[in-house]
Amino acid sequence: MKSQDYSIVIKGGHLIDPKNNINEVMDVAIREGKIALIAKNIDAGQARVIDAKGLFVTPGLIDIHSHNFFGTKENHYLGDGFEALPPDGFTFRSGVTTVVDCGGAGWKTFDTFKAQTIAHSKTRVLSFLNIVGEGMRGGPYEQNLQDMDAKLTAAVVRQHKEIVGIKVAHYMGKEWDPVDRAVEAGKIANVPVIVDFGGSVPPLSIEELFMKHLRPGDIFTHTFAQLASRMPIVDGQGKLLPFVDAAQKRGIIFDVGHGGGSFRFSQAIPALKAGFTPNTISTDFHTGSMNAGMKDQLNIMSKFLNMGMNVQQVVAASTWKPAQVIHREELGHLSVGAGADVALFSLRKGKFGFIDSSGFRMDGDQKLDCELTIRDGSVVYDLNGISRPLWNK
Ligand SMILES: [Zn+2]
Repeated sequence: MKSQDYSIVIKGGHLIDPKNNINEVMDVAIREGKIALIAKNIDAGQARVIDAKGLFVTPGLIDIHSHNFFGTKENHYLGDGFEALPPDGFTFRSGVTTVVDCGGAGWKTFDTFKAQTIAHSKTRVLSFLNIVGEGMRGGPYEQNLQDMDAKLTAAVVRQHKEIVGIKVAHYMGKEWDPVDRAVEAGKIANVPVIVDFGGSVPPLSIEELFMKHLRPGDIFTHTFAQLASRMPIVDGQGKLLPFVDAAQKRGIIFDVGHGGGSFRFSQAIPALKAGFTPNTISTDFHTGSMNAGMKDQLNIMSKFLNMGMNVQQVVAASTWKPAQVIHREELGHLSVGAGADVALFSLRKGKFGFIDSSGFRMDGDQKLDCELTIRDGSVVYDLNGISRPLWNK
C-alpha cells in the first residue's frame, strides 16, 4: 500500500493494545475507517499527522454499563426517561467509542430505544436487554415478576445484532426468579447475563449467586458496592471473602459499574490489596452519577491506577476484556483491518482527589486525560487541536 493512501497517521505515541500484546512506542496508520498499519516510523505521505509523543494510544474504550435510553416520559427513570443521557455528549470526551446501555430497554421497548438512541448516535450503542419487558421504568415496574419472560426476552435478543446480553436489576425481594429467568433467557439466546443484584433484607448470598445461579461468563456489576441490603465482597474486618477469588476463577466477570451508589473505597482498596482486580471497568453513567464521584470512564480508570493497577491493566479492563465479555471480539483492539476506533490519553502527574459513592475522598498523584478520540476513522474529539493545522499557516 502506498503511504499517500493513509488518511491519518498517529506518530510517536505509546501504543497499548492488550489483545495484541503491544506496550511500546508505535505509529498507527488509518485508511478508509480501518487500521491499515501498526509499525515503527510509518511514512505518512499526504496523510494528516497526529503527533502523539508523550501520549498513550489505545483502542477506543468500551463502557459496558451505561444508561443512554433518554426520553421525555415522566416517571420512566432509565427507560425513556430524564435520568438517562444521549451518549455522544459524554462519550468521546473520555475516549469512549462504544457503550452498552445496561437494561434501559426491555423486549417491549427496544424498538423505541433503537429509534431514539441507537439510530441517532455516532457512539456505537449496544444493549443489555432487561429481563423486565418494560425495561428500567423504576419503582413497581422492576418488581413485577409477571413481566419477566425469558422466552420473549430471548426472542427479541435474537432479532437485533445490537443486543449483547440480558440485564437483571433492582429487584428487592428474596426470590431468585429474576436472576434465574435472566439466565434462562441467556441460555436460549446464547448471550451473557449482567446482574445488578438489587437488594433484600437479610441479603441473599452472593456466594450462592456466583456458584449456583450464574454461568461462567456471566457478569456481576456494582462489584465494590457497600449497601445494607446487598452482601459486599469485603467483610466488616476488611477481608476479601474467600469465595470471591474462586468465583472469578470459575469465570464470573466482576464489573465495576460505579454509578451513584455502587463504589466504595472501603471495598475497593482492601480488595485490590488482597490481589483482586475487576475484570471490566464501567461507569453506570446517568444523571445521578456523572456529576458525583463517578464523572466518567477515565476518572474511574484513574482511581484504579492510584489504587495500584497499572496503565496497561486499566486499559485492558476498558477495551479488550469488555469486548470479549460481550462476545464482540471485533472490538477493543487495533489489529490491522479492525475498525479505527482509537483514543489518545495523557497521564498527568500532580495532586488529585477522587470521590466514592458515599462521598469519601482518596488522594492520588496521577490522572488520565483524554486528548483525542477517533471513531470509525474520523476525529470526533480533540482537546488541544493536535490534529488541526495552525490558523496562520
Ligand atoms: Zn446501572
